[in-house]
Amino acid sequence: MAYVGRFAPSPTGPLHFGSLVAALASWLDCRHAGGRWLLRMEDLDQPRVIPGAADTILRQLQAFGLEWDGAVEYQSRRTGRYRDALRRLEGFTYPCGCTRRELEDSALAIDGSRIYPGTCRAGLAKEKAARQAPPAVRLRTGADPVRFTDRVQGAITQSVESEVGDFVLVRADGIFAYQLAVVVDDAAQGITDVVRGADLLDSTARQITLQRLLGLPTPRYLHVPVATNAAGEKLSKQTRAADAAEGDLARALEFLGMNAAHGYSPRELLGWAIQNWDVARIPRKRALIAGPY
Ligand code: GLU
Repeated sequence: MAYVGRFAPSPTGPLHFGSLVAALASWLDCRHAGGRWLLRMEDLDQPRVIPGAADTILRQLQAFGLEWDGAVEYQSRRTGRYRDALRRLEGFTYPCGCTRRELEDSALAIDGSRIYPGTCRAGLAKEKAARQAPPAVRLRTGADPVRFTDRVQGAITQSVESEVGDFVLVRADGIFAYQLAVVVDDAAQGITDVVRGADLLDSTARQITLQRLLGLPTPRYLHVPVATNAAGEKLSKQTRAADAAEGDLARALEFLGMNAAHGYSPRELLGWAIQNWDVARIPRKRALIAGPY
């Protein structure tokens, strides 16, 4: 199958070193395979979207020479598709009226969120149904573990039910959740290969669960280490923006296990990297210190 890759940033700030690494890895894997590379703005979470950030990201990608194919997709314009998918999941979903506070005592998942204890599985309790706020919609998960092989991180097994719990597809504020939107869009855009940061490795089993319920294909997955500071904290959007003029490209390549000779122009560097892209060199870690940024 012809390779189709994608980069799917959330426009909550400019690209920083960590998101540059994800974009670069995805782009190189795609170009090395002679594939098409699509761009999708994940701008559903409007309260977190920063005006102008989407355009800034597009300009940054252009400045780095990471050219994409076709028109940029915006999730905010595709909500009809998410509504259709939700309808197809009827029978596997239920309304949930639990507040954050009510879930505070639930067990912690590996990513620091709460494992949903299934409070509303058997139906909304009267006092929850009577609340003003519309309920969220959750997916009823199963006990069977989901297994997949990540091209860098290796064999992964996750029981979504016990490790994550029934997860949210529509939030109480009416916004479609990332997990649903990403699955619908990856399939609609014909994505064969997802290459992204390992902070999303633990989301993958949820996404495969949804793909199976919706009868959609599962792409190949490759999760690159997340860039952290020396204290082990993920670089955030507060970190300075990635800069094409500052050698960030060479540093991002180094982070991915590639050491180019010095003296290349950025364009030459990318050409060299496409030729020499080697997944086996990517450190098989979920997180890696990225040096001072
Ligand atoms: N929009 C997500 C983020 O910026 C990435 C989604 C994905 O690559 O699946 O973290």
